This record gives sequence, structure tokens and C-alpha cells, in this order.
Amino acid sequence: MKQDMTKIKLHTFSGWIDPPTDLQPAVSGEVTCDIAVIGGGVGGMGTALRLAERGQDVAVIEAEFCGYGSSSRNGGHISGAPGGDLRMLKLFYPKQMKGMVLLADHAAEYLEGKIRDLEIDCDYVPNGLSFGAISPIQMMRVKSCAKILKDAGGRGQVGTAEELGIPRAFVGGMREGVGGMLNPGQLCRGLRGALLASSARVYEQSKVTDVRREGDKVVITTPGGTVIANKVVLSTNAYAGEWDITPKRLSIPAWIIEVETEPIAPERIAALGWTSRTGVLSQHQIMEHFRVTERNTMVFGVRRLERGTSYPLPKDKAPDPGLVQELADAFHTRFPSLADVKVAQAWGGWIAITSSWISLAGKLADNVWYSCCCNGHGLAQAPYIGSLIADNIVDGTMHEDLECIWLDKPKFPPFLMMGKAGLRTIWALDRMGDKFNGHKRRARRAAAAAAAAVSVS
Ligand SMILES: Cc1cc2nc3c(=O)[nH]c(=O)nc-3n(C[C@H](O)[C@H](O)[C@H](O)COP(=O)(O)OP(=O)(O)OC[C@H]3O[C@@H](n4cnc5c(N)ncnc54)[C@H](O)[C@@H]3O)c2cc1C
Repeated sequence: MKQDMTKIKLHTFSGWIDPPTDLQPAVSGEVTCDIAVIGGGVGGMGTALRLAERGQDVAVIEAEFCGYGSSSRNGGHISGAPGGDLRMLKLFYPKQMKGMVLLADHAAEYLEGKIRDLEIDCDYVPNGLSFGAISPIQMMRVKSCAKILKDAGGRGQVGTAEELGIPRAFVGGMREGVGGMLNPGQLCRGLRGALLASSARVYEQSKVTDVRREGDKVVITTPGGTVIANKVVLSTNAYAGEWDITPKRLSIPAWIIEVETEPIAPERIAALGWTSRTGVLSQHQIMEHFRVTERNTMVFGVRRLERGTSYPLPKDKAPDPGLVQELADAFHTRFPSLADVKVAQAWGGWIAITSSWISLAGKLADNVWYSCCCNGHGLAQAPYIGSLIADNIVDGTMHEDLECIWLDKPKFPPFLMMGKAGLRTIWALDRMGDKFNGHKRRARRAAAAAAAAVSVS
């Protein structure tokens, strides 16, 4: 169904939540602190919360407001497995595989604990996240990923769509044993509330334009003033390339989008066979993901990565209507019984992609820590790694989950296939596969079953 795109709300922030109304003051004049954390996403907030908990003098410096970045804009899946293609990760990083799997598993548990301990109301449903195969070929990929995950100590159950309670439009998949789905905007609001209630000082509306070391201090420049800190944690994720202090090729920024439908009658969602309501990630090279929300809408996204080519990244970027239409078409192809369901809104955000496709952390100098998490899977990993970095700063401890991604020397290999042409080629290969893998036939059969289920009820 072609929809009038002008009726769709295209946000420059997020569709999950409105911006806060209690913006914190900007840095003004000269501010001193022991530890400065730059960037107030889930990563920076997780770091600062842990530092405050450990009695440190910490200040967060955020360009807009805490939760402004991808942390409030993502799909809200808490994954218990590493991001990226597990087969490639195993091929290139066999020694790190076990560590990365445990890190992802522990990160999901950590975030679940934070939500519980801080009593954050963010619609968290601990129903796992499923790798979903839209064709027998994708199912083969799922099975090999499940084996890699299991061999490395991860948790996941392989099954048919019926066994996993995912829509019948999928052949089957693997449901992860930890994690689930939530409203990331509400998660950020809860973390921000906890941060404001802590001993940490929070400066918002303070875009850092330069970070440099002067003697044993770090000098952080913002439009309203300067912060002088003994130590600094760089936690701006996709935006990190804006400063000279960031090593070359740490990551590249990529823009991805989310689309949300109007509300759908719960019985129509149930008729898809989606009894577990778990989020599902397709097994394309660039995935499509689908989830239901507590407001009975469906959110889906990605399918295409748009490479950011220069810094600073554009601030008020809205989704491209052409891509929203492409995702809407993909949604209606996957779920023909919902062909009449309209898209209501869309938004997007910047993720950081590392050339190795694994999360990274380390030190750039004695007093400069950084992390770059998770290639689009960082909702749990970024705050978890942030909390481990905080412990490393306070007492030098190196948790094995941090050690697994720690780099002694900040040197990074070049990126492959991440230029405009490379990304277009990957997208085209996915579309080519879809031409021949029979997914449309399967989706139509599933739609007939859904229609029958609705008419019986
Ligand atoms: C559309 C989308 C869908 C996603 N889906 C999922 C998902 O389902 N599951 C999952 O696990 N992950 C997902 N991710 C990835 C996840 O959101 C990120 O990995 C995670 O939020 C990263 O957190 P962060 O704190 O490192 O970065 P961010 O949330 O981006 O925070 C960085 C912060 O730094 C601030 N900043 C930037 N520049 C400066 C500056 N110069 N001075 C001061 N502050 C600055 C920004 O304003 C921002 O608040 C998705 C991401 C996107 C965009």
C-alpha cells in the first residue's frame, strides 16, 4: 500500500519519548572535576552512575541532553548475543569469541539489574530476542550461529516459528536466553533521573569542541566555558570522530532508521502466530528487525545503512521518506494480512561501526579512556562497559569482559565495504537473495492462516 508520506511524522529526535523539559545548565566559565565523562548516552550515564556510586567527583558533559543520541532512538532490543555476523566474528576473532559472547550475556543481565534496582518504568519485557529466518537458507545461517553461540557458552533455543512463538512468516529461528525488549526513551529518562539524583554534576547543552591534554590535566572546551579534569572518558559513540584526540579509524558513523505503525488490534498481532511477542531480527546481511510495543504498534527498521561522511554529524536529521517507504513496503510484504496498517512515524540515529565489528575500549593516554560500543547492539553493552571502565579508573581492576575488548594500542585496520558503493552492494545482494528465497510465498501463506485465525476468533 502506498501511503501519503506527508502524513507520516518524521522526527529529528525519537518517536519513543519527548525531550526532557528540565534541561540542565551548560558549562559556564571554568569548571574543575576529577573525572569528566563526555557524552550522556546510556554509555556515559552508565559510566557516571558507577563513578558516583563509588564516591568519585564526576561531571557529565553532554551536547544536548542526556539520552539525546542513539540511546533514545533505537529499536529497544536487549540482546544477549554479540552484534554482527557471528560466523564472521568466529572466523576472524576465534580467540575472542567466547569472551564476546559472555560480555553480551553479562551486559543484558547488567541492564536488567539496573532497570530493577533503579525501578525504571520502561516497559521491559524479558522475552528474549529472536534471530528469525525468512527462508530455509537463512535458517541454515541461524543454525550455524546458534552452534557458535552455544560452543562459546551463550544461550539460545533453535526452533520453528511455532515453537518459538514468532510470526509464521518466518521459517524458524533462534531465541536468545537472556534479554528482551523495552522502550529506550523511557530507559534513558529513568537513567537520567538517577544520574540527576546522584552526586554527579550534569552539564547539558554543552557541545565539546575540543579535548586536549595539558600536562597531567585534560582541558575540555565548550562554547560556554572550559572543564579541567584529571581524567576523562570519551563516550560519544558515533560522534567521537569530531575531535583530533580520537584515533583515526576508531569508527565510522552510520545512520539507521526506525518506523512505527499506527496501533494494531492485539488479536491481529496474535493471529500472526506471534505468541511470544519477542522481537525478531532477519538474517539478511543488513538486518530488518520487527517488534511489537506495549502500545500495540509495531516498530521495524534498518535494512539500509547510510554512511556519515563528515563531522560534525548533522544535528537535526530526519529520516529519508524514500527509505521509510521502502521499510513500509518490506513490512507489508512480510505481513500481508496487515496491508491496511499505516505507518504513523519514523526517526533515525547514528551508530558507530568499528572496522572489526566488535566493541572496543581502551586508553589513549594515562588519563583518557574511551569506549566505542557495539555496532548497533549497544543498548546493554554500552552502559555495562561504561561501568567496567569506571571500576578500571577507580581501582585499576580489569574485568575479564572489559579485557576481552581492551586494546593496548589504539590502532585500527581500514574499513571494508563501508563506502557508499560497498553498502549499496550489500543491500543489493540482500534484495537479490530475497528474489529467489521464496519468502513472499511463505508470507502469503502465513497471511492466509492469520486471516483464518481472525475469522475464527
Ligand atoms: C535506529 C537505531 C536502532 C538501534 N537498535 C538497537 C537495538 O535494538 N538494540 C541495541 O542493543 N542497540 C541498538 N542500537 C544501538 C544503540 O542505541 C547504541 O549502541 C547505544 O545507544 C550507544 O550508546 P552510547 O551512549 O554509546 O551513544 P549515544 O546514545 O549516541 O550517546 C552519545 C551522546 O554523546 C553526545 N555527544 C555527541 N557529541 C558530543 C560532543 N561533542 N560534546 C558532548 N556530547 C556529545 C550525544 O548528544 C549523545 O547524547 C540502535 C541504534 C539506532 C540509531
